[in-house]
Amino acid sequence: MKKGAAVAEETLVIGCHLSCSKGYAQMARDAASIGANTFQFFTRNPRGGKAKPIDPADIALYHQLAAEAGIQTIVAHAPYTLNLCAANPDTRQFAIDTMADDLLRMESTPHQLYNFHPGSHVKQGPEEGIRLIVDGLNQVLAPEQTTTVLLETMAGKGTEMGRSFEELAAIIDGVELNDHLGVCLDTCHIWDGGYNVAALDDVLEEFDRVVGLDRLKAVHLNDSKNPLGAAKDRHELIGDGHIGFEALSAVTRHPALRHLPFNLETPNETLDGYAREIAALRAAWA
Ligand code: FE
Ligand code: FE
Ligand code: ZN
Repeated sequence: MKKGAAVAEETLVIGCHLSCSKGYAQMARDAASIGANTFQFFTRNPRGGKAKPIDPADIALYHQLAAEAGIQTIVAHAPYTLNLCAANPDTRQFAIDTMADDLLRMESTPHQLYNFHPGSHVKQGPEEGIRLIVDGLNQVLAPEQTTTVLLETMAGKGTEMGRSFEELAAIIDGVELNDHLGVCLDTCHIWDGGYNVAALDDVLEEFDRVVGLDRLKAVHLNDSKNPLGAAKDRHELIGDGHIGFEALSAVTRHPALRHLPFNLETPNETLDGYAREIAALRAAWA
């Protein structure tokens, strides 16, 4: 916002994961069409192929449409196949190169968020996992970047890293340029990881003690198909899962969280489904 401009009326910043296949301007149009004022997208094919070149005309139109739609914050999501703590050095190098390239591309939309899954340590153990993720981030982050890189809280499926707040804190502590790091809280993942989203104050108190609430930059708002602590990671529509509408709406309304961007990654077939979820959450937020 420009200095001296009136402070915008407080609104819930909510959107969903959108397809990036038709470019940035189309994502702004899609977001506006469902009442969203933020969105998330994959930087490239989620399986990790080559990224489409950035088109300056698309970016220029995007900025115009985003301003019209009140979109200030967007979240890019790294391909979920990247693994900074893979045992195979080529797999790790691929993750480092891809993330570094993504961060260069993100400077065409400066001061945004880039979320990634910390990785799976496979058989190396969590300590080695942390060491490798720290080493990877130390190679990827650049002093001059404007993007904040977010570690996503994970469900703890298999040997996934980032299931506990302690693991996230250990990674952040180890990284030299950690002013560029934050956390994205996924409600389905922490629930599956054993943190009771319905006892939100306790969870946030623990997060604050271990990581620090100032690190929390974004939320993935998802219900879960599984009970607390299942370590499964199956997302459900808001209100149709084990967390429930009330507890998830309370996440959007909590004084420590209400200013954050919330993105739905719920199993909707069409944009209409997201529009309904966004409308219901906005109605409960007002
Ligand atoms: Fe994710
Ligand atoms: Fe997520
Ligand atoms: Zn998930």
